[in-house]
Amino acid sequence: MLLWLAHLALAADPVERPEDTWDLSVLYPSLDAWEAEMKATEAAVDGVASCKGQLSSRLRECLDQRFGVHKAVMRLNVYASNASNADTRDADWLSRSQRGEMLYARLDEVGAFYKPEIITLGGDAVEKAIASDKALAPYDYYLRSAVKDGAHILPAREEALLAGGAISRDATIRVRSQLVNAELPWPEVTLSDGTKARLSPANYTAHRGSPVRADRQLVFDQFFGALTKYGGTLAAAIDGAVQGHWYVAKARGYPTSVAAAIDTDHVPQAVYDTLVARTNANLPTLHRYLKLRAKMLGISDLAYSDLYPPLVSGSRTWSIDEAKQLTIDATRVLGAEYTAESEKGLRARWTDVYPREGKVSGAYMDGAAYDVHPFMLLNYTGDYEAVSTLAHEWGHAMHSVLSRKAQPYSKADYATFTAEIASTTNEALLLDHMLKTTRNEDDRLFYLGNALEGLRTTYFRQALFAEFELAMHTAVEQGQPLTREWLDAKFLEITRRYYGHDAGVTRVPDSIGSEWSYIPHFYYNFYVYQYATSISAGSLFADDILAKKKGAVDRYLGLLSAGGSDDPVVLLQRAGVDMTSAAPYDAIASRMERIMDEFEGILAKKDKKKKK
Ligand SMILES: [Zn+2]
Repeated sequence: MLLWLAHLALAADPVERPEDTWDLSVLYPSLDAWEAEMKATEAAVDGVASCKGQLSSRLRECLDQRFGVHKAVMRLNVYASNASNADTRDADWLSRSQRGEMLYARLDEVGAFYKPEIITLGGDAVEKAIASDKALAPYDYYLRSAVKDGAHILPAREEALLAGGAISRDATIRVRSQLVNAELPWPEVTLSDGTKARLSPANYTAHRGSPVRADRQLVFDQFFGALTKYGGTLAAAIDGAVQGHWYVAKARGYPTSVAAAIDTDHVPQAVYDTLVARTNANLPTLHRYLKLRAKMLGISDLAYSDLYPPLVSGSRTWSIDEAKQLTIDATRVLGAEYTAESEKGLRARWTDVYPREGKVSGAYMDGAAYDVHPFMLLNYTGDYEAVSTLAHEWGHAMHSVLSRKAQPYSKADYATFTAEIASTTNEALLLDHMLKTTRNEDDRLFYLGNALEGLRTTYFRQALFAEFELAMHTAVEQGQPLTREWLDAKFLEITRRYYGHDAGVTRVPDSIGSEWSYIPHFYYNFYVYQYATSISAGSLFADDILAKKKGAVDRYLGLLSAGGSDDPVVLLQRAGVDMTSAAPYDAIASRMERIMDEFEGILAKKDKKKKK
């Protein structure tokens, strides 16, 4: 009843049917059952300690125990965290969700001896054990990874010292968050229609795409102007974070911060370097897009504040059932198994569809309940963005479905590096499907424009961030502290290069130098580059699949089914994509070129019609 009342507030929303909500009772039939399993698992987590010092004699048994308990903890968490996300106002669910997280942290702590003990066993003993006991096969990658990581793992006491310092190193992001999200006095602006807006980060995002040019200029000037005033504090915070990354990298014997960060997934440095180099080589593609944008907006002097209004606006909406059907139809090229699984999963109660008061914002897929199925949370509004988000999250869900089917628990969970490939490939397939089934020229322009904007923000913008993040760390490694002057100048230099400031493509004013302080990801230690690498690999897969290249679908589904059974770059190599080569980055650039060719072709046709 409460749900229904909350729904009335959202006038345009359809009535919520049971099939538009997820059914968490497949995890536990009742709250009592969850509580009982929680108690049993708490005891099991403590029981993991009994394997301490035992790995050389009871390796398989102890791995069975660790992964068995891990799986149980994850399932408990899926239940509590998703119920809490569906209504964040519910204090009981929040506390259950926190209990789940604490149990996970406890398992981490109790089981911390596994890796050091495996490293002590050594590579030879591990290989011998794998060769002599077939039942160790589910753990071979875990064991070999631990041995590989051994070169950078310190003796137990030193590891404990490093871990203990994390809470003070992490203070840097808390300082940034406190200032930006709570204490910074954002300016109030009066927009051209007379409305007043306080330019918090949320309102900046809401207004930066305004169709009125003077409004978006005002929003940019005032928002980045406000950040600039606190540039000294924000520079001190990011300097602390980057120094912290470098401190840990050095302690572990890495030559650079980037080498340490990307080695957690055994990604070679060549991937990072190739991404940066090829993106720079591909900048003419970005410039062509920016010129097209200027033309569509009807302006001759494109500025950085003109980047966010849509290239073409559209107002069409789709019901959730239509959106699900579009996802099924768009991914039909992936074969009968993918389609059958999609039809099953999208029609079952795996997804919480609509926005509601108290529900978390955004969208995600949670694939951590290995023996059950993925769950998806959407805030479906019916516009094309929402349809595209469904296709994106469904890509993640199918990645989990296929890897769970093919892999044991210990190898099913995949790295972030491969995760966004499944989602961005689906977005590309959706675009292709929309274009193939749409005759109306304005609608086609809308889909193409939307895709171009996505490529700008997910590929070029994230690669720019990756380059800046690397520059910050390199400076610190060379003894250069990160002052606001250095940060502003470096960010401005890279941004002007990307957006073609000197060539007159986009005017990037000095104030944009402070945009680095708006991006929380720079505290995440080399995370953003994976957005750019993933969408590039996804582009290459989508190209091959749509061109019906022999074996392309099998290679792609093979990657999804491989889950986390090897290093992500190795899995991609096996699927025919070399992330250290130019191919994926050039594929995304030529994809963008083709979309622009098609876009301009339609424009030319429309022009001709007008003249007739
Ligand atoms: Zn995603």
